[in-house]
Amino acid sequence: MTYQNYSLKQLQQIDAAHHLHPFTDHKELREAGSRIITRAEGPYIYDSEGNEILDGMAGLWCVNVGYGRNELAEAAYRQMKELPYYNSFFKCSTPTPVLLAKRLAELAPKSVNQVFFGSSGSEANDTALRLVRHYWALEGKPEKNRIISRRNAYHGSTVAGTSLGGMEPMHKQLGGAVPNIVHVMMPYAYELALPGESDHEFGLRAAKAVEDAIVEAGPEKVAAFIGEPIMGAGGVKIPPMSYWPEVERICRKYDVLLMLDEVITGYGRTGEWFAAQSFGIEPDTITTAKALTSGYQPLSALLVGDRIARTLVEKGGEFYHGYTYAGHPVACAVALANLDIIEREGLVDRVKNDTGPYFAQALRERIADHRLVGEVRSFGLMGAIEIVRDKATRERFEGEGRAAVVVRDHAIASGLMLRATGDTMILSPPLIWTRETIDLACDRIVKALDLAE
Ligand code: PLP
Repeated sequence: MTYQNYSLKQLQQIDAAHHLHPFTDHKELREAGSRIITRAEGPYIYDSEGNEILDGMAGLWCVNVGYGRNELAEAAYRQMKELPYYNSFFKCSTPTPVLLAKRLAELAPKSVNQVFFGSSGSEANDTALRLVRHYWALEGKPEKNRIISRRNAYHGSTVAGTSLGGMEPMHKQLGGAVPNIVHVMMPYAYELALPGESDHEFGLRAAKAVEDAIVEAGPEKVAAFIGEPIMGAGGVKIPPMSYWPEVERICRKYDVLLMLDEVITGYGRTGEWFAAQSFGIEPDTITTAKALTSGYQPLSALLVGDRIARTLVEKGGEFYHGYTYAGHPVACAVALANLDIIEREGLVDRVKNDTGPYFAQALRERIADHRLVGEVRSFGLMGAIEIVRDKATRERFEGEGRAAVVVRDHAIASGLMLRATGDTMILSPPLIWTRETIDLACDRIVKALDLAE
């Protein structure tokens, strides 16, 4: 029996009775009923009521090539018929993860050439945490095991992901994080820059917070620094261009590994294959997932730099870590076909030279002046709109996040899916958006803001 045999009401009732959702207040969900998305095509999603909604979030920051790509369905179908599953344990391998690992090594920064697969970003960060601590143990420095992260960072929701992340409500529920992880300030100028401080100066000061934490702990105790090049779930917080090169310099100075979490920024969103390239840095690990398959299959890839890989291979023995679905042949086949599409259609270049700049200009010219908007910002095709009560003083509305939820709901009703995080509206559209799609999205944002006034 397919879902078409059920009414919307029935599906909502079954959903409420049996389905526990991620990051959801289930009491609220039961009262409101969920929005059931039934199909999608190109940049649009369609709900069970037949509403067509422009997807300003690319699903959950992942459907970079848009919906309805037969090529990806066919890649999965072919692989499922030929070899639906075999593992990469016990000295076995299958062709698609092998070819995908090679392809990723070619796309990544020069010193990053090895890949460890998983099924989600959280899993990949779990691997990354274990790997960097294992690296230092293999180097004879097991006490060099602390990780520095940032407040408000999001690195997933497994125990390791939550502990690496800096989201207070998540930590509270965890009831005990993985030890030896500390959090420093985020590089968010709109809220944290001092009066008169330039963007450049603020970026250096935010990087200095990393140095201070290293010095305070003692460099001989610090394994790595981890950060999202642009904080995503925390509200598309874009650091000044001075921040990352300075963080990299500090990490090298104290022999601390640099871990980038590119689960959102990887595979074109910033106008380069990886944001590491946008900011001109060479990390030791890069966590990726989401757009690797454009969300058509669950797959993550932890890209591992030569320094760590060399030690792992030469001194490592067995690394007691791995997942049944690591290097899943079907997911890897879909990833290869997805990378083909991104390359063939020149989507990365399009973000860099056409839609990214146009998106920035549209936000500035059409949204920034609205009475409810404190700031707009974007990088490539990820953007944010800060909702404020008072533009001049930057005073927020009461009840953190409530105003943004009102705007978001008006936006969805006007035909644009976007996300509200705290007082921030977030956009992260598929990379297939054109100038016309950006114009259409802006029409709908303006309408939603006007309705919320
Ligand atoms: N890291 C970052 C930066 C993310 O944005 C996310 C998810 O949004 C994750 C890790 C976790 O990925 P997943 O939800 O696939 O476990």
